[in-house]
Amino acid sequence: MAENNVMTKITDNLLKVYDYAFLEGATYGFYKPNDAMYVGVRMTEKQYNCPGCGRSFRVKIRNDNDGILYFSKGRIAEQKKIYDELDMDFPADWELMEKPYTYQLSGYCADCAAEKLLASEEWGQRINNLCHELYLQDMLVSDKAKQYMTDAVERWLNGIESADELTRFDLANPEILQELIWIMVLSDTEACEKALQEYRDSVQPILYELKELLEQATPAWKAYVARSSSLPESMSDGEYHEYTLAFPAEDTVGQDFYFRRSVEKSRVEMFVSQHRIASIQELLADAGFQEKWIDMVMDKANELLK
Ligand SMILES: [Zn+2]
Repeated sequence: MAENNVMTKITDNLLKVYDYAFLEGATYGFYKPNDAMYVGVRMTEKQYNCPGCGRSFRVKIRNDNDGILYFSKGRIAEQKKIYDELDMDFPADWELMEKPYTYQLSGYCADCAAEKLLASEEWGQRINNLCHELYLQDMLVSDKAKQYMTDAVERWLNGIESADELTRFDLANPEILQELIWIMVLSDTEACEKALQEYRDSVQPILYELKELLEQATPAWKAYVARSSSLPESMSDGEYHEYTLAFPAEDTVGQDFYFRRSVEKSRVEMFVSQHRIASIQELLADAGFQEKWIDMVMDKANELLK
């Protein structure tokens, strides 16, 4: 596993495999869409409609490719159905390219999901919920480590009172500077070790329950999966490419919505059985060196030299 870490970080890998198991079904292709298979749509926003509470949430779409996105014909048919269910008039063919189009989705909001889905005892939903929790814990421990390592750099710098404590090192040499900072980070890992222990404590029972549930699971099932509104989404059912991807505007605040979709057991097992951060060395290496630490040290040196 160790030689693997240089190329792919453990959390990056977990993120990709989670995405593969629960979110992205289509494969990526490089080509320009042709008219026989795709319909150009001037899509400017998405509207999430929650069937639980009836509330709706809007997300603006980034204006790429002259504002036109390409929908597969299957997706257009699906949109017509959703418009119908929402009792709205679907635009005429000529309007799709000309007038701003709102993409409609039907998915439970986080509040309704907490009430209806997260407490579900139904095994398929339970597996999805546990995997989502596992994924959040995987990401959380890495985020915590990044923060605690920065705190360690800050603590070290706060304890420095005279400039020569820093200037006796060759700060102009990036390698020496980086090594110096690493040594300080490695000498103050208590908070990271605590975070790792908390991660282990929360992940172990999740993995245990997942293994038991998966032993009895069928090869595929349908259940609700959380998807953030800040993620790009393809408007094509089969292959997706740059002309079918709707990117939310930069300032979009991510909110989870829950959609029913089929999940394959083999993909879920792949996610569950991935290597996870198991030691403090792996946690620190995974969180990695942060360029801003160099700025912090230089700022401190300059401040003391004044
Ligand atoms: Zn709701």
